[in-house]
Amino acid sequence: MQGSLASRFEEASTDSYTTFGLVSKWKQETKGKAVGYFPVYFPEELADSMGILPVSLQGASGGVSLDMATAHTQSFVCSISRSVFQMALQGNLEVFDGLIFSNICDVARNLSGITKRNMAKYVDYIHFPVNNSSSHAAAYLRDEYLRIGEGLANVAGTRLDAEKLRASISLHNEKRRLLRRLAALRRERPEIIPYAEWYSVIRASAVMPASEYASALASYLDEASARTSKSMDKIRVAVIGNFCEQIPVMLMKVIEDAGCYVVNDEALIGNRWLQDVRTEGDDPVLSLAEAYIGNREPLTVRFHPEVDKQEHIEAFVKSLRADGVIFCTPKFCEPALYDYMIYKAPLEKRKTPYLHLEYEESSSSFEHVRTMAETFAESILFD
Ligand code: SF4
Repeated sequence: MQGSLASRFEEASTDSYTTFGLVSKWKQETKGKAVGYFPVYFPEELADSMGILPVSLQGASGGVSLDMATAHTQSFVCSISRSVFQMALQGNLEVFDGLIFSNICDVARNLSGITKRNMAKYVDYIHFPVNNSSSHAAAYLRDEYLRIGEGLANVAGTRLDAEKLRASISLHNEKRRLLRRLAALRRERPEIIPYAEWYSVIRASAVMPASEYASALASYLDEASARTSKSMDKIRVAVIGNFCEQIPVMLMKVIEDAGCYVVNDEALIGNRWLQDVRTEGDDPVLSLAEAYIGNREPLTVRFHPEVDKQEHIEAFVKSLRADGVIFCTPKFCEPALYDYMIYKAPLEKRKTPYLHLEYEESSSSFEHVRTMAETFAESILFD
C-alpha cells in the first residue's frame, strides 16, 4: 500500500480494536453521536442518516485481558463476545452513546442482555427474522427497523427522515459496491493484495465515516489495480468461517506463506454482503428491510429456506476457481461449526480438498497451523 492511504487505513483499522480515538475525534469535530454494533450485520444507514456514526465492534483481537468478562460469563463462549464485554466493563466503549446487538446466535443474544444490565446507556437488540421466505418477513423487519430507529432518534435528539435516509442508502450502496470491487480484485489478482493489507483496508470500514471511507477506497482501488506483481505458483484457497470473531492476521499470513493465495474470506462480511438497496419508492425503511430479506447470497451464518447451502458451496468454490477450502472456525462458535458440517459433505463428495482450523482472536502461536497448511498446499500442488 502506498504512503498516505496505507497509513490512513492502518490507523483506522488499529484504532477500531480497543481505543476508538478516531470516534472521539469525529464526535468532537461534528458534535455528533456514535453507536457501536456487534457483528455481523446492522443497517448503518439508519444511524448515519441521523448524524450518528455507526461503528462495527469487531473485538479486541487480543488487545485486552479478559478477566472481568470471564468473571461474568461461562468459560465456553467465544472470545469476541468476551472481549467486547470486557471493553464495555472497563470503559473502552464509553465513547459510544449506544450499543446494538442482534440475533446472530445465542451468545450474541445473551451478550446484549448482560451488557444492558451492566451499562447505563442505550442498548438495543435487532430481532432479524428467522423465516426469510415468509410473506410477512419484510413488513416485520421494517417495523423492527422503525423501533430501532426510534431508539437511535432519542440518542441523536432528532427524527428519522426519509430524504436523509435515501441519501444515506445511496452512500452505503456506493460503499458496498466499492467493497465488492475490492473483493473481486483480490479474487482475480490475489498476488497484488496480501492478506494483511486487505484486512487493514476492510477493517477500516468498521470505523471510518462512510463518505470518507468510500472516497479513500476508490483511490486505493485505482492504486492497487495498477500494480504489476507477478503471480506465483500457489494454490487458491477460499477461507470460510471467520464472519464474526476476527481471525488473527498472523494466522492468515502463515497460510499465505505456506503456499496459498487467499481468494476469499468472510472478515467484515456484514459491511459488503447486502446488494444495492432501492432508493426509489416512498418507504426507504421498507427498502432496507426488503434488501435484507431478498438477499439470497448465503451469509455463512444466515439461514434462508430457499437457499440450499450445499449447492451454494459447490457453486461458490467453482466461481472462485479455488483449489481448496480452509474452514477457519472460532473456538466455541456453534454457527460456524454447524455450517462447517453442512459444507464439508458436498466437498467430500466432489473430492475438493479442505482443511479445518480453529482459532481465537487472541491466538499467537501458529506452528501447528504452518505444518497443516504446508501439508495441505503441497498435497494439492503435487497431486
Ligand atoms: S463468534 Fe460465533 S458464537 Fe461468538 S458471537 Fe459470533 S457467531 Fe456467536
